[in-house]
Amino acid sequence: MNWELVQRKTSLRSLTTLKAGGVAELFAKAKNVDELIKISAACQAEDIKVTTLGWGSNFLASDAGVAGLVLLNQTREINIDGDQITADSGVAFQDLWLKSTQAGFRGLEFAVGIPGTVGGALVSNAGAYRSNISEFLVALEVVTDGEARWVDPTWMDFKYRDSILRCENPRSAVITRTRFKLPRGEAKQSYDEAREYQRQRIGKQPPSASAGSFFKNVVDPKLAQEIEGLTEGMRKNNVVPAGFLIEKCGLKGFRIGGAMIGARHANFLLNVGGATASELRSLAHFAKQSVQNRFGVELEEEVMYIGDWSNFSPINP
Ligand SMILES: Cc1cc2nc3c(=O)[nH]c(=O)nc-3n(C[C@H](O)[C@H](O)[C@H](O)COP(=O)(O)OP(=O)(O)OC[C@H]3O[C@@H](n4cnc5c(N)ncnc54)[C@H](O)[C@@H]3O)c2cc1C
Repeated sequence: MNWELVQRKTSLRSLTTLKAGGVAELFAKAKNVDELIKISAACQAEDIKVTTLGWGSNFLASDAGVAGLVLLNQTREINIDGDQITADSGVAFQDLWLKSTQAGFRGLEFAVGIPGTVGGALVSNAGAYRSNISEFLVALEVVTDGEARWVDPTWMDFKYRDSILRCENPRSAVITRTRFKLPRGEAKQSYDEAREYQRQRIGKQPPSASAGSFFKNVVDPKLAQEIEGLTEGMRKNNVVPAGFLIEKCGLKGFRIGGAMIGARHANFLLNVGGATASELRSLAHFAKQSVQNRFGVELEEEVMYIGDWSNFSPINP
């Protein structure tokens, strides 16, 4: 590997949608899969921790920085051959929808409005409107232990907004290529559905810097039956939206420094001006504590805390 391509002490702030956080100890860009494999394999062989960065739309980097190498994934190729759809992990999830729709497939309409790469979407099993990316995945290529190999989707151990790569101390793994199988369908239907999803999002999502929903929704049959004000659909599915619980705690618009709980959507934590990563995490901590005290429910973060948080202590509002 050409270590001259690696930069030191690179700020991650402008590379994440929350616009907060410190520096990467080492930083490199991979423009194609060959580079992505070479750089990640070289790091693994040298025992350098590698953190892949897609669009940074689910990524809160600590103010104290990120040790090892942050590898910006700029791979972009999509190949459609018969029924086989192969995409680099750095392809935008929305582009995968567009290209597959243009080629006569359906199924990924829910991806419209989810920022980020296919690799990032797989790590958190991204989804919306009752569909998740993992439903359509048939294989993926990963670099582990310094080698690239194709594996079956079961390797990822997908769950709701979760995979093996989100567990505590996950093994070093970089997703490089992905393969999907989609049903055939009418492009017009796909565009209409995607437009409707987009319309719903515009009404709900605040325009400020965020990472989308900060917490996962809560699946709790007892709470879903008992809590007042929940829609019948949610009650039937035993789902209580995290934003609904935060709102019930009266926290819409609540601030710590430059971090604010969305006034439109309480599950969006916003950077409304110069928020530090610590302010954002402190606000998340306060929202979690408030929901725990009021409803006895522990919210789980959908956003990932990256880097060194060992000295983090929440700011008291
Ligand atoms: C306005 C807004 C709306 C959103 N709406 C939704 C939604 O409806 N549904 C939903 O599920 N999410 C939503 N999100 C969250 C986010 O967009 C998704 O989680 C997205 O899939 C993350 O992709 P990314 O490329 O930005 O990942 P990043 O944020 O760059 O990375 C996230 C994690 O994945 C790891 N990672 C990334 N790429 C790779 C790779 N190739 N190999 C190994 N690890 C990798 C990173 O190291 C990090 O740990 C929203 C975010 C925003 C800002």
